Amino acid sequence: MKLYNKSAHELHEMLVGKEISSKELTEAVLVRMDETEDRIHAYITETRDIALRQAVAADERIARGEQISYFEGIPGVIKDNICTKGVKTTCASKMLENFVPPYDATVMKRLETVRPVILGKANMDEFAMGGSTENSAFYPTRNPWNVECVPGGSSGGSAAAVAAGSAIWALGSDTGGSIRQPASFCGVVGMKPTYGRVSRYGLVAFASSLDQIGPVTRDVTDCAHLLQAITGHDEQDSTSSASEVPDFTKSLVQDVKGLKIGIPKEFFVKGMDAEVEQAVRQAIDKLQALGAEIQEISLPHTEYAISVYYLIAPAEAATNLERYDGVSYGARVDGADVVEMMTKTRSEKFGEEVKRRILIGNYALSAGYYDAYYLKALKVRRLIKEDYDKAFEKVDVIVTPTAPTPAYRIGAMTNDPLKMYLQDIYTVPLNLAGLPGISVPCGYSREKLPIGLQIIGKPLDEATVLRTAYTYEQSQEFYKDMAETEAQA
Ligand code: GLN
Repeated sequence: MKLYNKSAHELHEMLVGKEISSKELTEAVLVRMDETEDRIHAYITETRDIALRQAVAADERIARGEQISYFEGIPGVIKDNICTKGVKTTCASKMLENFVPPYDATVMKRLETVRPVILGKANMDEFAMGGSTENSAFYPTRNPWNVECVPGGSSGGSAAAVAAGSAIWALGSDTGGSIRQPASFCGVVGMKPTYGRVSRYGLVAFASSLDQIGPVTRDVTDCAHLLQAITGHDEQDSTSSASEVPDFTKSLVQDVKGLKIGIPKEFFVKGMDAEVEQAVRQAIDKLQALGAEIQEISLPHTEYAISVYYLIAPAEAATNLERYDGVSYGARVDGADVVEMMTKTRSEKFGEEVKRRILIGNYALSAGYYDAYYLKALKVRRLIKEDYDKAFEKVDVIVTPTAPTPAYRIGAMTNDPLKMYLQDIYTVPLNLAGLPGISVPCGYSREKLPIGLQIIGKPLDEATVLRTAYTYEQSQEFYKDMAETEAQA
């Protein structure tokens, strides 16, 4: 099997056993990048020199007999909305096309201590607004399972790179599904931690009450380890959780006996994609056969989740994106006076979808509409959260599809933003309620496109989510498929 197709834990063993060097591994992944990038376009910026330097340094430490950490010397990619000191961070926007951060995001500082190899920055929807990576100002990313299809989004570059073998692991960000949905479309594992688990310091803000950084990996084992590496309290993020961080690797056990799993009836409705429904129902049966207790539950406010999300997220985005005014941050297009300068800058440097959200957000926040839209959305957000609180009095985790369909064709939804928004129905409630959730592969469509299973946990209970995901994954071994499939990329 090719090196670029292996998981980080397999590669770690090989590095420790001196079967391979980090340089060899990094070169193999760079060659894979050469083979795939002209079709997949998972990357915005490649940092090959940095990667090779880090690989050589890892090899030197191994040669000196130092103990190496799990991700040490193992190449991965960072979503391009996470600030990397000295390396361009564009958010896939013309507005930040030339932005080189003078500082590292907290997650980068944390990663630094485990010394991985950083291959570059991954493509995404502009400012993380979208679900297909078609909103990148530079180029769309394509799905390695079928290059006619989208990889999902907004962390589409991160998921496509891990699926194609042009990275072993990745970081993404998730405001309404942007880690889980592309993981589902690309047949990899993606996790959104509990709101506050991972510091947002240095993550370019989209919707601050919803944004969370998380892992995109080949399997659940790598996911638990990557989560461990980036999790923890950070004084630089006032919403960062001070709760103790458990040892997530303890969750890597096959045990769901007696685990209470809730299946929300509102998530399985007429009209849902038959292949997705079948794959998810089979996964639920499998978990039951492994000893879990399945219960139907009700989350009655689910039908409002999309409306609430598409008021709150744009409202916060409109506020956060105010700073790109041609003066304080980002690009500037000159004009005769300051008003013309600002107007030209914002008109020319923001893409369509970003402008649409700024308009919606400012509308919802404006005097006279605030109470009717934004305030009302906040109240319904509370009701959605209470649905989950109630459900979690009876069950330990909730299992649903990650996305209503497998990956769709590039261009299929670009003219219908509402249709695209409706795709987020299964993922946005977790962000609104602040809950952790993972997507793991659970099958394929007839066209051999991956389908994802979403497992939702109680606040701060990533451990049970990981344990459920691991138990399911080990019973199925789709993760092995992925490694063995020379995806069409
Ligand atoms: N698809 C959702 C949106 O467009 C989610 C995006 C995200 O999680 N960053 O807003």
